[in-house]
Amino acid sequence: MAEKKDYYEVLGVSKTATDDEIKKAYRKLAKKYHPDANLDNKSEAEKKFKEVNEAYEVLSDSQKRKMYDQFGTVDPQGFGGAGGPFGGGGRYYSYTSSNWDDFGDLGDIFSSFFGGGFGGQRTSARRNNGPRKGEDLNYNMDISFEESFLGVEKEITITRKEVCKTCNGTGAKPGTNPVKCTVCGGTGQVRQMQNTILGQVQTTRTCSACHGTGEVIPTPCEECHGKGTERKSRKVKVKIPAGIMDNQTVVLREQGNPGTKGGAPGDLYITVRVKSSSIYKREGNNVICNIPITITQATLGAELEIPMVDGSKEKYKIPDGTQTGTQFTIRGKGFKNLNSSSVGNFIFKVVVQTPRKLTKEQRELLTKLAQTMNEQPPIKKKGIFG
Ligand SMILES: [Zn+2]
Ligand SMILES: [Zn+2]
Repeated sequence: MAEKKDYYEVLGVSKTATDDEIKKAYRKLAKKYHPDANLDNKSEAEKKFKEVNEAYEVLSDSQKRKMYDQFGTVDPQGFGGAGGPFGGGGRYYSYTSSNWDDFGDLGDIFSSFFGGGFGGQRTSARRNNGPRKGEDLNYNMDISFEESFLGVEKEITITRKEVCKTCNGTGAKPGTNPVKCTVCGGTGQVRQMQNTILGQVQTTRTCSACHGTGEVIPTPCEECHGKGTERKSRKVKVKIPAGIMDNQTVVLREQGNPGTKGGAPGDLYITVRVKSSSIYKREGNNVICNIPITITQATLGAELEIPMVDGSKEKYKIPDGTQTGTQFTIRGKGFKNLNSSSVGNFIFKVVVQTPRKLTKEQRELLTKLAQTMNEQPPIKKKGIFG
């Protein structure tokens, strides 16, 4: 069903386009494909117009653009399909509601996020008195390097608005109902004629009697004072997938503030910050680290026990005559790739430790060794003077 389209291509801009460039490109194309401007070829123009709008919905919103850049696609095939990173029932992005132990309908939330695409609410969001999507919430979460490697499930406490249980969000005292605003006739907007130097101009402003909702509440709910919502602290479980990178964002669909007039709740965006490790570094999906070895291990060769990020040990044989700084690779022991089934490597560099404190016996042994090796190895001219 959903054909794959590149939003940048649709708008004809580069991946690094600025907000301004995106806006300009959008305006130009929206004008070009506006169905009213293409009466002879309306259906084709309409299709293009929709595409352009969809692309703009995503790329003009920094958060959505970030998501799109990260995951490359917003269609369900890309995310939910068996081959996708989130396929096979992979519920990486968890969600929680008031009963946060119940993960039962996670799938629906999940597919509504990945399947539903972005936006879609925008048109109605512009209308003040129609269904309006709730606000998105942003939170940060710190995790350790090891947690980013293994994946982790954490609980965070967020404060969000929730629908008032006393009035079910209507804002009206139980047993009473909101009534249509008489000032704007329920439209939420009032027209005004204004005298300007250019003559009379008609302007529209939000109705101040109903704040644009089109309704007034004669008897407000005592619990929420007519707002229809109350602030609540909630614990939310967040599943962080293995392989997540610093600054990537996990989205919990519909866990933000509630919508109004039947609009969907907003989303909860959690930006993950990965703390650095004193031992390991991440480069792409590879794990990099230094492993100290002794001069005898370097000289004679040795079987090392390399500490992996997950806490296990991996045996690795280094050959005799290993020089300091030599790199070795243990394949498939790096980070999981979020977007494919590939796994990075574990790359370690051996660093030969020259002993500082020797026992008398060790000193004698080394002296003997030195005597059997003719003084200093020859200096290669290239290394020193070249
Ligand atoms: Zn209430
Ligand atoms: Zn009004």
